[in-house]
Amino acid sequence: MRDFSRDISPLALNTATLGHNLDGYGAGWPVERVIDACAERGLGGIVFWRREIGARAVEIGERVRAAGMEVVGLCRTPYLVGPGAPGTLDEARASVDMAAGLGTRVLTIVTGGTEPGTKGVEESQKILAGRVAKLAAYAAERDVALALEPLNPMFGGNRTCLMTVRDALSVCERAGAPNVGVAVDVYHVWWDTGLAESLREAGNRILGYHLCDWREDTRDMLLDRGMMGDGVADLKAIRRAVEAAGYAGPCEVEIFSSRDWWQRDPNEVLDVMVERFRTVC
Ligand code: ZN
Repeated sequence: MRDFSRDISPLALNTATLGHNLDGYGAGWPVERVIDACAERGLGGIVFWRREIGARAVEIGERVRAAGMEVVGLCRTPYLVGPGAPGTLDEARASVDMAAGLGTRVLTIVTGGTEPGTKGVEESQKILAGRVAKLAAYAAERDVALALEPLNPMFGGNRTCLMTVRDALSVCERAGAPNVGVAVDVYHVWWDTGLAESLREAGNRILGYHLCDWREDTRDMLLDRGMMGDGVADLKAIRRAVEAAGYAGPCEVEIFSSRDWWQRDPNEVLDVMVERFRTVC
C-alpha cells in the first residue's frame, strides 16, 4: 500500500468538501483561492463541480496545472435515467466538453434512479447501458472517460440504479466501451462485504477513489458525511482492496456536511483533511 504519511501527492480535494456544490453553503471561496490553498498544502489535484466552472474550463484547468496540480475529475453528468433525467444527451455531452476543456480525464456519472414506467433496477440498468454507450463514444473522441459511481442503496429510487460496484461493472460490460469504468466512494460501498471481490474484478476499470467516513449515527443521508477517522468505515481495508485491484491514482476527499464541515473555516477543513489523509486513510 502507498505510504500517505510521507507523500500526500495522491490527495485531491473534491470541492464539495467546502460546500461548493450547493447554494447557501460553505464560505464561498472563489475557485482561484481554492486552487492556491490546495497547492500551498501540497495536494496533487482538485475535482470540480460543473457549477463552479461555467465557461471558464480551459482557464481554470490551466490555472490548476500552473499551480503544480492536476484536475482529477469533474462532477458530474445530469442523470441519464430515472425521474428528472433530461430526455436527451445534450447536457451530458456538454459536461464531456467541459471535462475536456478542463483537461481532466474523468467525468463522474451519478446515474439517476428507476426509469418511469419500470420497477426495480434491472430494466433501468439496461436503458442506462445504452445511453452510456452513446455518451462514451462522444467522450472517447475527447479523451474523456466516464466513471459510473454506485451509490449507497438508500439512494435508490430517485438518484441511482447502481447500488454496488458489481452493478456498475455489469453496466460497463453491457456498454462495451473501453472508456467506461467505476468510481469507488467509501460512503457508498463501506458496508459491502463482497467489495474486495468486486474490486478485483473491476481491475483497471477503477477510475476514481473517493474518501470520507460513515458516521455511526448519520443525521442526514445526503449531507452528513464524516471526515476520515470520525466514523466506522474501514478506510485502510478499503484502500488496500482498491490498490490490490491495481488502482494507483488519486484519492479525492468528498465530504457533504451541512451541519459540521461546511460551517467551518475552509483553512481548518483543509488542514484537518491533510492530517487525516496522512494518518487514517
Ligand atoms: Zn463520490
